[in-house]
Amino acid sequence: MASRSSRQSYSHNHNNGSASSSSTTSSSSSSAAVSSRTTVGHAQPAHNISGRPKPPSATSRRSVTPNSRTQSFHSDQEPRRVRVAIRLRPRNAEDLLSDADFSDCVELQPELKRLKLSKNNWSSESYRFDEVFTETASQKRVYEVVAKPVVESVLNGYNGTVMAYGQTGTGKTYTVGRLGKEDASERGIMVRALEDIIASTSPASDSVEVSYLQLYMESIQDLLAPEKTNIPINEDPKTGDVSLPGATVVRVQDLDHFLQLLQVGEANRHAANTKMNTESSRSHAILMVHIRRSVHEKVNDEINSQEKGTKSDLFDGNGIPIVRKSKLLIVDLAGSERIDKSGSEGLLLEEAKFINLSLSSLGKCINALAENSSHIPTRDSKLTRLLRDSFGGSARTSLIVTIGPSARHHAETASTIMFGQRAMKIVNMVKLKEEFDYESLSRKLEGQVDHLTAEIERQQKLRDDDKYKLEKQLRECHDSFAEARKVLVTRSEILEKENIHLESEMKGILNELNHQKDLNNLMQDKVSKLEMSLKQSEQHQLENSTYQKVLADTTQMYEKKMAELIKQIEDERAHSENAEEQLALMKKLLSEHQKSIQGQKQIDELALKLQEMYQLHENTLSELQSLKSENKDLLLQKAKLNEELHSVRQRLLEQEKQRKGIENELIKLKRAVPENENDFEDKKSYMKEELSKGSSEFGNRMGSYRSNPLRENISGQRATIAKICEEVGLQKILQLLTSEDSDVQVHAVKVVANLAAEDINQKRIVEEGGLDALLMLLRSSETTTILRVASGAIANLAMNEMNQALIMDKGGALLLAKTASKTEDPQTLRMVAGALANLCGNEKLLTVLKEDGGIKALLGMVRSGSSDVIAQVARGLANFAKCESRGVIQGHRIGRSLLIDDGALTWLIANSNTNSASTRRHVELALCHLAQNEDNAKDIISGGGVKVLIQISVESSREDIRNLAKKMLRLNPSLQADMHAR
Ligand code: ADP
Ligand code: MG
Repeated sequence: MASRSSRQSYSHNHNNGSASSSSTTSSSSSSAAVSSRTTVGHAQPAHNISGRPKPPSATSRRSVTPNSRTQSFHSDQEPRRVRVAIRLRPRNAEDLLSDADFSDCVELQPELKRLKLSKNNWSSESYRFDEVFTETASQKRVYEVVAKPVVESVLNGYNGTVMAYGQTGTGKTYTVGRLGKEDASERGIMVRALEDIIASTSPASDSVEVSYLQLYMESIQDLLAPEKTNIPINEDPKTGDVSLPGATVVRVQDLDHFLQLLQVGEANRHAANTKMNTESSRSHAILMVHIRRSVHEKVNDEINSQEKGTKSDLFDGNGIPIVRKSKLLIVDLAGSERIDKSGSEGLLLEEAKFINLSLSSLGKCINALAENSSHIPTRDSKLTRLLRDSFGGSARTSLIVTIGPSARHHAETASTIMFGQRAMKIVNMVKLKEEFDYESLSRKLEGQVDHLTAEIERQQKLRDDDKYKLEKQLRECHDSFAEARKVLVTRSEILEKENIHLESEMKGILNELNHQKDLNNLMQDKVSKLEMSLKQSEQHQLENSTYQKVLADTTQMYEKKMAELIKQIEDERAHSENAEEQLALMKKLLSEHQKSIQGQKQIDELALKLQEMYQLHENTLSELQSLKSENKDLLLQKAKLNEELHSVRQRLLEQEKQRKGIENELIKLKRAVPENENDFEDKKSYMKEELSKGSSEFGNRMGSYRSNPLRENISGQRATIAKICEEVGLQKILQLLTSEDSDVQVHAVKVVANLAAEDINQKRIVEEGGLDALLMLLRSSETTTILRVASGAIANLAMNEMNQALIMDKGGALLLAKTASKTEDPQTLRMVAGALANLCGNEKLLTVLKEDGGIKALLGMVRSGSSDVIAQVARGLANFAKCESRGVIQGHRIGRSLLIDDGALTWLIANSNTNSASTRRHVELALCHLAQNEDNAKDIISGGGVKVLIQISVESSREDIRNLAKKMLRLNPSLQADMHAR
């Protein structure tokens, strides 16, 4: 911005300077702009380079205005003057080589907008231009100063032209047509103009269209469609609008699109020139940009709004939107060098002149315009005809004149400069007498500004690229977020489902836990009771032992006392002996005394003393007597206590004996439980269905079964068990099922299984929680024996219809199915199959049983290959099918059999020929029952069941089954039809 405003101030300087300078070749009046023959009240710009005769009023209006007013390169006050800038190309390798001993022929004074052209070694001439670009000038600045005001004007609805004029190789194409694909800072005027136009227009309401043409030898060729040559120019006689109806017009979508078009045009231009054996320097390249903008303003005063038209009201008086059409021409002119110098390349001079006809005609028009001539020869060439509505006048026109620095081309450079001067209407500036010191400094700064400008633009480009990349990344992030969120939602849904499932499972486990807790509490009560009694017995024992201890202590004490007494007696005895001895001694002494002593008195004294001594002796003797009797008493007491101790010991021994007896009894009880776990199984369950039919054969079998000595043995054992159960109590036995000790569990489950075999016990077992305990064992035990016996017990309980519903309610079918899948033990599988087969006999439970996987489990157990297991499976299927057919007959069951989905029908058909008689009968029965239901007919027919049914009706070993099969084949119309079809 700063550089721009400083440049504007240069312009002011220049204009002030221009006013004060004296021109050598033309009067000050020649530095005037040419006024247009503007039709007042018309929004379209008028046409200036017009060959049509002009009315006198128009001629008078093309007045010359003294160039004394303040103006910038494109001043709003002087819209009609052709702006001319000069650009010096940097030296190239060729210049450096050939100009080694020459000095430059031009010297630029950009701050004064002057160019000094040296005539010879001692004199030079100075020319003023609207702008002077040194060799370091950036493309951006050239665009902004030369072309941008034209582009802005075109965007505002006026036609405009930017032309590059100069000798071949001086940078016309560089200035105008450079694509700058690698380095955006090198982009030329065409690209930058379109960039601005695209940015200022909206694709929704506006249109930007381009044509790209080449003018060579007065023939217009379409560079976007090179096959189109000699395209005619059309001029609207009324409006004077110039158009090329034959040229390709492409609507530009974005800058990339435009760059592609330019590239195509460039390639075509190159190809065309190669083909014609010409040089691009001989042709003019013309880019035509047509802009249509819908304007939301009402144009009140056209003249006033010519420059600021966009600032008016929205619509015209009728509210009709206004469309503005304008045209921008960007022309890369042919080289301005003299024909003789560039060589005619084998063409005749006339032809060579023809090549440059357009260029010389342009010069003539410019001269005529500059000289304010009444006739402007625009009709002389195609170029001037094309430019008629876009050059000068109310149209903005900029000319960029390119020159090279080399002195070798002095003449061409001079003529080029003169062309520019004529276009400007300013000829030959006066030589400057003095030069300013700040010039070099200014030049340096200018150079830095240019360098920085290019750098800034490069950075801007990089930033734009980064921004684009970041935006792309952001978009990708958004996408991945959305994706992640989707995944999360589905996962949370899955988790929620899982959660619900787990919760329900947990509820089940909780229930079970509660149940176990109850059991536990019960057990704990019992344990605490047992502990209490144990404590009591311990207390008792303890009491006994303290009693014994006290006894022993007392005895000891007495013994001690006795010993003391005896010692005392002995002491006394010794004492008395001593006294007697003393007495004897005294007597002897007395006698001696009596002999020896003469005094009676002494004798009396002694006699008295003796008497005292005797008395003492008597006392001691009586004391001794009493002690002796005391001792006797104590001895008696001791004997008594000993007796008592003995009796207590006796009692303890008795208690010990009693305890041992109880223990023995318990061991006996354990032993009394039968070792053969199969014994508890009651075959009745297997036969229930058959018995109800009154099958005599089966009854016989049953009879023979019962007369079996083993059976008798079993019933004997069972009686023992029943007795034990009475003694111990069913409740206690059921509690033993939950024992920690698996041995105890095994025994207990065997007892329960045996009890369950008897109808009379079943109700009690279930009521007292036996069924729950058995199901718990199925759920938690890993011990084969326990699983087997528990399944058997459940099979026995499942004979009872009431129990069947209970078993199902408590998830028994699921547990049985699970057990079936986790064991390979054929005995266990037989029990499980038996239990499921019994459940199959309850019509109300069929659906739940199927849903809980009962049928699948049954069919799965066939894998064991054991005929016993398979027989149970077949019995189960027969029970199921029978219940279903009963339901169908009674009218409360519709649709095809639940067995079919699980593959039971297929299995039945495949096993109808099995060798096992019992299995075969069940299979036959099952098939007959399935055939009862019309809805099963389709599956039976497709599975080949009709043939099997026919076979059953003929071959079955049992008459009732044969009859049943016949009946089904007869009654089921679909089967009947299929049978007849055979
Ligand atoms: P013209 O179109 O006038 O015949 P070009 O535009 O083809 O000339 O330029 C001739 C050569 O000079 C090209 O290689 C171009 O890149 C180079 N050139 C022209 N002007 C400049 C400049 N201002 N800066 C750098 N190189 C330039
Ligand atoms: Mg060129």
